[in-house]
Amino acid sequence: MSARHGDQSHRCLDFLEQLSRYLDDEVPPARRLTIEKHLAECPCCEDVLRGLEQTVALCHDRGRPALPREVRARARQRVRDLLSGMRLDVQR
Ligand SMILES: [Zn+2]
Repeated sequence: MSARHGDQSHRCLDFLEQLSRYLDDEVPPARRLTIEKHLAECPCCEDVLRGLEQTVALCHDRGRPALPREVRARARQRVRDLLSGMRLDVQR
């Protein structure tokens, strides 16, 4: 299982980079399914998604229809931070 984890983390990179668009409903339905399937199999990505959802929810609570650019940037940075932690984990 740990041998496959390296493989998985490559896919995680792809998915995580799309998560903010996924939350904004900007991905095509086929891609959505792929992302959802991966999230169901991958606790790391699910965690990241929950974090992003909270960020988005906070924004919506303030009555803004769209995510401010600043929040998007922060969410992406968060994803990158988590990813670099994940990669360190994998390389061990
Ligand atoms: Zn993943």
